[in-house]
Amino acid sequence: MQRFDTAREAALALRPDRPVYAFRPATLESDAKAFLSAFRGTTAYAVKTNGEPMVLKTLVAAGVDAFDVASPAEFAAARAASASARQFYMHPVKAQSDIRLALETYGIRALALDHEDEVAKILRIVRAQDLDPEDVTLFVRLATKGHAAYELSKKFGATPSAAVELLQRIDRVGFRSGLAFHVGSQVEDLSTYERGVASAAWVRGRSGVELAALDIGGGFPAAYGRDPKRPGPPTPEVGELVSRVQTEVDEWGLGDLPLIAEPGRVIVARSLSVIVRVMLKKGQRLYINDGIWSSLSDAWTGKITLPATLIPDPARRRATRTSEPKLTPFRVYGATCDSVDVLSRPFWLPDTVDTGDWIEIGHIGAYSLALRTRFNGFYPDEFVEVATPFETVEGLEGFAATEPRRGMA
Ligand SMILES: *Cc1c(COP(=O)(O)O)cnc(C)c1O
Repeated sequence: MQRFDTAREAALALRPDRPVYAFRPATLESDAKAFLSAFRGTTAYAVKTNGEPMVLKTLVAAGVDAFDVASPAEFAAARAASASARQFYMHPVKAQSDIRLALETYGIRALALDHEDEVAKILRIVRAQDLDPEDVTLFVRLATKGHAAYELSKKFGATPSAAVELLQRIDRVGFRSGLAFHVGSQVEDLSTYERGVASAAWVRGRSGVELAALDIGGGFPAAYGRDPKRPGPPTPEVGELVSRVQTEVDEWGLGDLPLIAEPGRVIVARSLSVIVRVMLKKGQRLYINDGIWSSLSDAWTGKITLPATLIPDPARRRATRTSEPKLTPFRVYGATCDSVDVLSRPFWLPDTVDTGDWIEIGHIGAYSLALRTRFNGFYPDEFVEVATPFETVEGLEGFAATEPRRGMA
């Protein structure tokens, strides 16, 4: 991989017509370490967020020794990054053959579920392989309600009363029992976690079952861009949010349980940006060479304002103008011919932006590479390594980039 000091240098050296990803291992390492040091339990990185080998290897080097996995390809990716890391198979609905592979080939001993038929599936394989159920922890996934950019409890999770019965059943069969919840993604509101913790405490009390662990899932928010028209409170700092969730755990009487968290987005978002090119400027519209079917679908579904900075093409002849460049909102159109391929939030860029310029779109490390499609024949897959964090861009071009620093808002 070619290395550059900044993405701007990469853009000017390569003059790419196709999107180029700028990977920042140093940023990834420091964001991983920030979570590891804030959280007192086991950090099981959610592989689906970004399962690229270079990402997983960097995380292992930073000290991550557990992964949240959901499929055979993720078991293999996690194993390739670390032979010794623990794997938590937290998909509540699993194929019989995948359960067998998890238990037999990958030695996975922690699995999640939200229905009794799933207990039966797992039990069949445990018996066939002559395993001791005592060595296997089954986590009952609780349904939770709350505010997240993505709500996941509509899809998975047992109601508290169903969870009580499930725990008792798991206990009777001889498995070890755990409780888990996952409140969604990009959760900025502590009370969402609080409800999950409260529900876990209720279920534990009702069931009378001895618990082996509590898994508080992922969902911790990453910092993104800011839209001057949509002012809001700054994204909570991860250390602060994690410590408040831990306080909730203690206050609800669950502090004796080993904790597990499954962060994804908060660890990888800042580690990757993408350098895109403006194919055409049409008034306040910019047509770029990436879009919702490539790197930007997560921002589209989550209505996330991505930070963006302009990299003007120095070779382009510019009209002489007397006024200073002004930041203005541009609607951003994707590369494909699909009419829905339009970003849900504008980019604020200097009004001097024009056809042929590059834009560095920051903080796309989560749910970007994994969600690329080959739709319309576009599939960005070029990478460079960049040393400088995205946030350090100064001046007007960097103004639209990131949230105001805390305390400066
Ligand atoms: C997707 C997912 C995660 C990671 O979520 P983030 O919002 O990226 O932190 C964690 N746990 C489960 C069960 C998931 O499905």
